Amino acid sequence: MSSSSTKRDAYEVLGVARDADESTIKKAFRKLARELHPDVNAHDPQAEEKFKEAAEAYEILSDAERRATYDRYGHEGLRAGGAAPNFDGFGSISDLFDAFFGGGGFGGGRGGPAPGGDVAVEIEIDLADAFAGVKRPIAVEIVGRCETCNGNGAKPGTPIRTCDRCGGAGRLQAVSRTPFGQVVRTVECDTCAGDGRIAEQPCEQCEGLGREMHRSELEVDIPAGIADGQRIRLGGRGHQGDAGAPSGDLYVLVSVAPHERFLRDGDDLVTVLDVPAPLAALGTSMDVDAIDGPATFSIPAGTQPGEVITVRGRGMPVLRRPGRQGDLRAMVNVVVPRRLTKDQKRLVEELAATITDDNLRSDETMVGKLRRLMGHR
Ligand code: ZN
Ligand code: ZN
Repeated sequence: MSSSSTKRDAYEVLGVARDADESTIKKAFRKLARELHPDVNAHDPQAEEKFKEAAEAYEILSDAERRATYDRYGHEGLRAGGAAPNFDGFGSISDLFDAFFGGGGFGGGRGGPAPGGDVAVEIEIDLADAFAGVKRPIAVEIVGRCETCNGNGAKPGTPIRTCDRCGGAGRLQAVSRTPFGQVVRTVECDTCAGDGRIAEQPCEQCEGLGREMHRSELEVDIPAGIADGQRIRLGGRGHQGDAGAPSGDLYVLVSVAPHERFLRDGDDLVTVLDVPAPLAALGTSMDVDAIDGPATFSIPAGTQPGEVITVRGRGMPVLRRPGRQGDLRAMVNVVVPRRLTKDQKRLVEELAATITDDNLRSDETMVGKLRRLMGHR
């Protein structure tokens, strides 16, 4: 580090108060480190310097003795006593990170065989299937073991030898010296790519990778109550991982086709009932074909347009709660008869002549009426 006389204050670098305790300092440093991680900051040439600065500040403040010296004499005092941290010896910022957090300990996943990737397929079902639950066959292309070489990557009948470099373990221990002592990390062997074995003649089918694409057919169990946009996870049914690493997951994205008569609202099903004006006035009952058979709505006398009639427990099944169902709701659409015959016209005229204010009075306020007719509840 050059121009050490202009070093920033260690407390300022970490953004902590002068009387901050150990855990606050540690948290502040980890937070900064996360922001400056090389994997997220590949584009920022300053990130490395900033991280070194933060690491130095942390080294000073996380050690009680150093901190006391620093509090009294500043950076100058640490240098005089030979206690000033120095990170110039590191090859790269990644090494520095590894020294602090251990290889891959920061979510980078460096070293070790890579797990298999996830696979997603989409299927469409209709509302009746979503209601009852359904089994559906699906076909996916998945990276699996090569059947020609049985996954070992060698041309059948040719020898496979143990990797000299790692002695067959597939992993190497990398030891680096850091200001915090020796740090040992385990990394994937670069000669055998973690396999531990090397094929003298690679399998022609998979070019020595030991893996190939398979068409895999399976049946997915779609549970009753599933909603549009939900996904089902089949753990371990995705692409095969590298040498012994776990396979990825298979996700089935479910879309539910719109139904011509019912909309779904949470676990409820909603529909519209056309009720002729005279029947809305007199009260009636109406049958509707629900998803699971006929349902009867009782419409009380004097029902107004937009009122909602509910049949409890006839909506969608609640996902993974057997026996529980939402409600079936119908919004009343009062239909005023059109194209009246002569006789009908006479009857309505007779009715109209007898209507009094009492027939039209409601307990609802004007604003309440507006809300209802505008669809607010
Ligand atoms: Zn093969
Ligand atoms: Zn090896």
